[in-house]
Amino acid sequence: MIPFVDLQTQYRSIRDDIRAAVDRVLDGGAYVLGPEVAAFEHEFAAYVETSFAVGVNSGTSALHLALLAAGVGPGDEVVTVPFTFVATVAAIRYTGARPVFVDIDPCTLTMDVTRVESVVTARTKAVIPVHLYGQPADMDPLMALARRRNLVVIEDAAQAHGARYKGRPVGSLGDFGCFSFYPGKNLGAYGEGGMIVTSDPEAAERLRLLRDWGAKEKYHHDMLGYNYRMEGLQGAILRVKLRHLDEWNARRRAAAGLYTLGLKNQPYGLPRTMSYAEPVFHIYAIRTNERDRLRQYLQAEGIHTGIHYPVPVHLQPGYADPAYPAGSVPHAEAAARQVLSLPLYPEITSGHIDTVADALARFAPTGEMAA
Ligand SMILES: *Cc1c(COP(=O)(O)O)cnc(C)c1O
Repeated sequence: MIPFVDLQTQYRSIRDDIRAAVDRVLDGGAYVLGPEVAAFEHEFAAYVETSFAVGVNSGTSALHLALLAAGVGPGDEVVTVPFTFVATVAAIRYTGARPVFVDIDPCTLTMDVTRVESVVTARTKAVIPVHLYGQPADMDPLMALARRRNLVVIEDAAQAHGARYKGRPVGSLGDFGCFSFYPGKNLGAYGEGGMIVTSDPEAAERLRLLRDWGAKEKYHHDMLGYNYRMEGLQGAILRVKLRHLDEWNARRRAAAGLYTLGLKNQPYGLPRTMSYAEPVFHIYAIRTNERDRLRQYLQAEGIHTGIHYPVPVHLQPGYADPAYPAGSVPHAEAAARQVLSLPLYPEITSGHIDTVADALARFAPTGEMAA
């Protein structure tokens, strides 16, 4: 059996350091925020080359607070893509603003930034590009447009810790960068966690208030706040894991390279890396019109796969908007029908990758079903 992800093998490799970090927090008594979270914030800000980092309890909370810190609220519009995890769009809805969708680039599966300007109105406050699968979106043209039209850019970097765009870490390119530490992410907690990074000191201060009940002084509430604080245990655990992130990302890139080599003469659409990008392969997704049949076949071969994501957000019943009927965002809809995520994690062996590539070759010997 080849699992889609394997979190326990990684845990075993760092077990002693994690146990020591957990003991430190349990003995120290700072179970929510506290010195370990503060230290992790400093280390993470340095890692992504921003001035500030604010730890929260999930990537979703990070997006919600970044939008609030940007002043987004009812009556505003926020531009994003529907081919993403639902949290990107949910966070916009939490503020009372309206999500406005643009299509993805069919080659990179990230925001087609050339489409953004045509949907900007007087109500548009912000844009959320998503660095999907660990592939950076094309940030330079987006930032140029945002400066021209006075828009706040919030990077959804939940799948892209350590990815770089033209040499700079994602999260540091926009006004805000939002990260998730859900266990399966490239940098994962042993529980929930998230982070907002920014280099704007006033925004950082606002974020610190918002995550902790809007109280500068305990029990004195200057604004509507939230209980979105990061736990001490997760901060301490993430400090240990951050030290390994570059090595883990390098192993993901190496595994992706082996897949690409093994599949290059097979009839599947493969991930493409743009010249501006240093991706971190949170996910390695191939494309085929026979996706569902292929997935069943691999399952029968003992190979577990994922689909990220089978339904684009504009076609989710909970997010329906008459402005976006079926067919209105065609590249996102096609990707949702065709993508299949192969097993990928830093500890995957080249033997496993060969097994997957061989199984894929047996499924499509004639090459008639390329995406
Ligand atoms: C995981 C994820 C989120 C949400 O993060 P949580 O920590 O699960 O709340 C947001 N956006 C994207 C693209 C994600 O993959």
